[in-house]
Amino acid sequence: LLMAYEPAKRLAKLQIQMERAVVNARMIYAILDTQPHQRDKPGAHELQVREARIELKNVHFAYGTGPEILKGIDIVAEGGKTTALVGPSGAGKSTIITLIPRFYDPPQGQILIDGQDIADVTKASLRRHIAYVSQQPYLFEGTIRDNIRYGRPEATDAEIEEAAKLAYAHDFIMAQPQGYETPVGENGLTLSGGQRQRLSIARALVRNAPILLLDEATSALDTESEAAVQKALDEAMSGRTVVVIAHRLSTVVKADKIVVMQEGRVVEEGSHQELATRPEGLYARLNNLQATVRKDQ
Ligand code: ADP
Ligand code: MG
Repeated sequence: LLMAYEPAKRLAKLQIQMERAVVNARMIYAILDTQPHQRDKPGAHELQVREARIELKNVHFAYGTGPEILKGIDIVAEGGKTTALVGPSGAGKSTIITLIPRFYDPPQGQILIDGQDIADVTKASLRRHIAYVSQQPYLFEGTIRDNIRYGRPEATDAEIEEAAKLAYAHDFIMAQPQGYETPVGENGLTLSGGQRQRLSIARALVRNAPILLLDEATSALDTESEAAVQKALDEAMSGRTVVVIAHRLSTVVKADKIVVMQEGRVVEEGSHQELATRPEGLYARLNNLQATVRKDQ
């Protein structure tokens, strides 16, 4: 009986691994630009990026035959500026971010980058200009160096270390006996949440893309990691067009523009100063809520 059980157990484990692989496949494709059968429009052209200004025009979206999740979104993310998306869970913030690298295509509305409809450009050229830092940074099986190199396979060792330095990851990497050759991932070294995030930021930095999509982590980090991650993010954001799903008040306050979403719609938009002084607004209420939560902690 035991002998029959073992293979089943191994099979179950493999199944779990494969499911994880599928979940992450989209992100991996985005990183590597190597999706084998990209379906580009006939005559699709290469995206030409100048300022990396992103514009969503009347974007509607539903997952499959499900309910409408985005109900006519108009957002401009100015080139080189930071646009923060805030709002309750389920509002559609992450969905918006997945439409920019074309993980999904909206059935109605347009997304333009420097005036070019992303539906008309090759996916490879689109994704080459985008770096994505997800809420839960994924580490691949391999060394720390491999994990950073996923951002740009042709990056040199010097470029990888430079990115790690900018991401405040170099010191903890060098503190490992094997340094950059330390294995991580499922069977490797266990890293803290803050360390994983900094590796994922280093991966985005080595990519050196003009557009950074950032789903800020909700989980609390220890104070030291928090400060290091914040500095790494400031580095990654500087000079780029950033669309950030912001959970930290500090990120929101620093953003050039805040877009407040609720139930698939943009309900408010402006700077922190503008929005915080509208006492009836959702933003002011969310803001107060966050202040209350922080006091309680
Ligand atoms: P937010 O990031 O603001 O919390 P999301 O964009 O993640 O919002 O989700 C918006 C809505 O879309 C939610 O109702 C969510 O359940 C639904 N949703 C998100 N991802 C999927 C998916 N892959 N398939 C079906 N529904 C989804
Ligand atoms: Mg989300």
